[in-house]
Amino acid sequence: MIKITLATSNPHKLEEINAINKNKDIIFDVVKGDFNPVEDGKNFEENAAIKAKEAAKIMKTFCLADDSGLCIDALEGRPGIHSARYAQTQKEKIEKLLAEMKNVPYDWRSAHFVSSMVLVNADGEIIHTQTGKVFGYIDDSPKGTNGFGYDPIFFIPSKNQTMAELPNEEKNKISHRANALIPMLEWIEENLL
Ligand code: IMP
Repeated sequence: MIKITLATSNPHKLEEINAINKNKDIIFDVVKGDFNPVEDGKNFEENAAIKAKEAAKIMKTFCLADDSGLCIDALEGRPGIHSARYAQTQKEKIEKLLAEMKNVPYDWRSAHFVSSMVLVNADGEIIHTQTGKVFGYIDDSPKGTNGFGYDPIFFIPSKNQTMAELPNEEKNKISHRANALIPMLEWIEENLL
């Protein structure tokens, strides 16, 4: 059995990661106390490494960080690594993006979510990294109440629904987080169990 601390204070991430993890010998918990390291990396992977190493300093266990965000092609990849801080509330973040995308036609509204996961050992040394993506389009208004963050405006053509309209089990099969976590869990099974 292995216990891994998730380097996050976002309860949605713990919930999704626990829903995706089917291995009873891999147990996730979140880092104790306030956890707000300065995320000043140049990309998702650097920010995930900052968070995982910081969590290992506090917890002295294996730590896994997920740094994730939404990248919109018409906005040259924004909000990208600034997704969590793009405006004050999630409603304002979505309104700001929809205003920026106001006159952009459907075909040019392509976007993807990214999740970069970094696993460190108890000494804070990186032992594995994995990145997952999911591709879609920015809808012109929010739809659905499942998921979190930008899910209500992320339209997935193959499902004809936004991410927030998908049941959680469906999101957890196709999401960027699932696409990073599933191979990460396989690596953990093969190398650490
Ligand atoms: P992080 O905690 O620095 O990785 O910030 C990630 C931010 O990206 C979140 O606060 C959300 O705004 C956005 N984000 C990440 N994953 C998702 C997702 O699965 N759905 C919707 N928004 C997401």
